[in-house]
Amino acid sequence: MYNAIVFKNLKIMLEESQYYFNKAAKILDIATNAKKLLITPKRVVKVEIVTISSSGELLNHLGFRVQHDNSRGPMKGGLRYHPSVDEDEATALASLMTWKTAVVNVPYGGAKGGINCDPQALDQKELHDITKAFVTEIKEIIGPNLDIPAPDVNTNANTMAWIMDEYSKYYGFSPGVVTGKPLHLFGSEGREEATGRGVMYVLGMALEEKKMNWKGLKVALQGFGNVGSFAAKLMSAKGAKIVAVGDHAGGVENTAGLDVEKLMKWVKKNKSVHGFPGGNAMESSHVLTWDCDVLIPAALGDVITKENANDVRAKIIVEAANGPTSPEADEILHKKGVLIIPDILSNAGGVTVSYFEWAQNIQQYRWELEKINKELHKTMVRAYGAVSDIAKSRKTDMRTAAFILGIGRVAKATLSRSHFVNTKFDEF
Ligand code: NAD
Repeated sequence: MYNAIVFKNLKIMLEESQYYFNKAAKILDIATNAKKLLITPKRVVKVEIVTISSSGELLNHLGFRVQHDNSRGPMKGGLRYHPSVDEDEATALASLMTWKTAVVNVPYGGAKGGINCDPQALDQKELHDITKAFVTEIKEIIGPNLDIPAPDVNTNANTMAWIMDEYSKYYGFSPGVVTGKPLHLFGSEGREEATGRGVMYVLGMALEEKKMNWKGLKVALQGFGNVGSFAAKLMSAKGAKIVAVGDHAGGVENTAGLDVEKLMKWVKKNKSVHGFPGGNAMESSHVLTWDCDVLIPAALGDVITKENANDVRAKIIVEAANGPTSPEADEILHKKGVLIIPDILSNAGGVTVSYFEWAQNIQQYRWELEKINKELHKTMVRAYGAVSDIAKSRKTDMRTAAFILGIGRVAKATLSRSHFVNTKFDEF
């Protein structure tokens, strides 16, 4: 998952996540000391990972786990293997997980982490050994009731199986210690397409609000990986026309609508939409300013900036990627009347089905796909409704409203677990 994605400058990401936090905290009138309490991570762990390479050399790596908040439940968030992994990156992403799990109201806090390594330079045995050595170092701070990692950049269902195996050696059979496991090893039905499905559900809500229809809706997507391809498939089944798709190697457009099933087969074989015979070739980056009703960035962070925001033609942007819109672009688009459904709401379908996987693991029971999709739908519709209500009552945009909802729920839980009582957060 997320392979081949180039990540934006992570210092910027930390600043941006704190910018949105501060904006919402100001509206909520949260006192400085309470703000500090909410933004500071609970625990930051940095460990040395020492293994032996396949050629017999000593390998040293650094592993990180930032546990941001657990006031609403065990902490939850991905593990990425990438040379960019460091404390700042993990801190920014861990706090976003806290607000995201609160927005969809799943009983989790937020965490993130990973290993600073180049997985392309490591073989499977080396990755296996590094993963297991990392688990040995952090086993006391993760667990089904403590902190539950999941796949992220360059980690996958296999990595989760190794973590489950190693952790279970110390604590007994524990499938609930990680989510995103293989289906045959206590993974969940529907997890693979969950994020794309959630994107489709929130867009459905937005269309209802704006009295627009799926039929003939023109959609452009940046990214056609896990999230983009499933979102496109589900939206086109509703009657939308996927008019343009751009990825790391090229773009393709078709005014009459691309055949998504055929495009998925093409990408599986050719690793890109480039050269797809069912449309005309286009410059990949043009997809962001393409003539469409809905734009779905589903690839990189910071792609809609002050340089191109004025040229965006979509009326709705659904942020499937994490952090695709810079704060300056966000303001420009808001002034233009573009509805932006923010990442901490739009792409929360993945963590929601991770929660269902964990619930199945601790119940030692399997849910049918039908039940998973029904519960996911309920969760996304409820979250969209709650964010939209706040946006209306506080006369603000959807992103600020989502942060207000997330921060409000976490603040309420944090304060009521201490001896403070603060009725200010009663609406959450
Ligand atoms: P993926 O690796 O499956 O697909 C990534 C897509 O982005 C590919 O189509 C790739 O070609 C494209 N891409 C890479 N570089 C590009 C560039 N320079 N220009 C245009 N396109 C480019 O990843 P994914 O799992 O689909 O994740 C996509 C985004 O969604 C990421 O921002 C990720 O953080 C976010 N996200 C994913 C999940 C999930 O469950 N997979 C959950 C929440 C958020």
